[in-house]
Amino acid sequence: MTPIFLMEYVILKNYVTQTVSQKRSMIQSQCQQLVDQISQSGYVHGNESTQVDKQMRQLANLYNGRLIVVNSNFRIIRDTFEIDEDKVIISEEVLESFLGTDSSNYNADSQFLELTIPIRDQETKEIEGILIVSVSTEDVSEGRAAISRIVWILQLVLSVLICAAAFYVARILTRPFGKITRSLEEVRGGVIEGQEISIPDYTETQLLSEAYNRMLRRMKLQEDSRQEFVSNVSHELKTPITSMKVLADSLLAQDNVPVELYKEFMGDIAEEIDRENKIITDLLSLVKMDRRSSDVNIQETNINQLIELILKRLRPIAAKRSIELVLESFKPVIAEVDETKLTLALSNLVENGIKYNKDEGWVHVSLNVDSKYFYVKVEDSGIGIPEESQEHIFERFYRVDKSHSREIGGTGLGLAITRSAVLMHHGAIKVYSREGEGTTFTVRIPLKYTA
Ligand code: ADP
Repeated sequence: MTPIFLMEYVILKNYVTQTVSQKRSMIQSQCQQLVDQISQSGYVHGNESTQVDKQMRQLANLYNGRLIVVNSNFRIIRDTFEIDEDKVIISEEVLESFLGTDSSNYNADSQFLELTIPIRDQETKEIEGILIVSVSTEDVSEGRAAISRIVWILQLVLSVLICAAAFYVARILTRPFGKITRSLEEVRGGVIEGQEISIPDYTETQLLSEAYNRMLRRMKLQEDSRQEFVSNVSHELKTPITSMKVLADSLLAQDNVPVELYKEFMGDIAEEIDRENKIITDLLSLVKMDRRSSDVNIQETNINQLIELILKRLRPIAAKRSIELVLESFKPVIAEVDETKLTLALSNLVENGIKYNKDEGWVHVSLNVDSKYFYVKVEDSGIGIPEESQEHIFERFYRVDKSHSREIGGTGLGLAITRSAVLMHHGAIKVYSREGEGTTFTVRIPLKYTA
């Protein structure tokens, strides 16, 4: 708004300066003729001139003002108001004018413009008198007031227009955010489906809506995977219970059950209980891995010893099927790791190497190190993993051959746990496998842990 009021000040000031200056030039040029006549007629030396008198009266009428002629003795020889004739006038302007300076004085308060014009001798060019012209400038003030009124109306109209435009623009600018807010409210209320937004209004909102949509898609994926996980968990936990129920029911339905059958069924029920137990243990491990890093217990650990311990524990299981379990460790490795989690991760790999192997096969574990990472390779001579399954084996509950895996006690959670543990250490895991020939898992983990 300030510029609008500044505009009023500038317009009015300009108008007054312009009009006063125009008026001044006009008076100066018109009076110049009079001054010429005065000097020609010897008026200042006392000569009468009706011509000069007439012209002075005309000009006084024209300007609605007063004309005074002063001679070189500072005496007023003619005053169109006829009140100060024969009086002596010594003012700053008159003195300056006798020294050759034209003076002009505009008084805005009392609304008049006063000019002094020197009267020069035609030949000597010496100043022999002064013409003083006082002109009313009421018309300038009236003009100024009229313009002021127009400017005021203009200001009002402009202010209203600017306010309206600001309001309109603000509404347009904030409209896109309304869409996002509405969508956010709905997402908060639990509706993720179909909430993607498109706000191509400006680049910023376009980028914002794209970022928002990306976030929404990630949330959808997470929600889908959470739902899938819950339904998988329920299914996996129910299976052993269903088996137990069937076994128990069939025992209850028969009278005089032979002890052998009774024992056999009870043995089966015990197996199912073990299985249920294993699934729950694995699930708890997985949940622990997924927790934030505050749960991590990082310590400097001797990795050679850690792997040796894993192999020592698994050797009896391998021995049952005459599977050879060998550790090749090239250098001593000390690294900052969570011992429990890394043990679980590597145990799963070696256990799988044994589980999915042929009798009299082998599992080779090797440990290597460079300046930044240590590398564990678990190689087996087992059944291998079909090409199309390789990208899925790290998913929770994924098993290549459900019945085979179940038979040998797999839950489908082992590799998911391993992958989570490796990622928690900011490491990487890869699989190479050929069906019928064997499988190799490589794990790379940084020697220094970064939170
Ligand atoms: P599980 O508890 O069934 O072993 P994992 O998550 O450990 O689950 O492994 C997922 C699936 O990947 C297994 O069911 C198996 O089919 C396959 N798999 C894992 N490791 C090996 C391996 N060394 N050789 C062949 N197949 C493997």
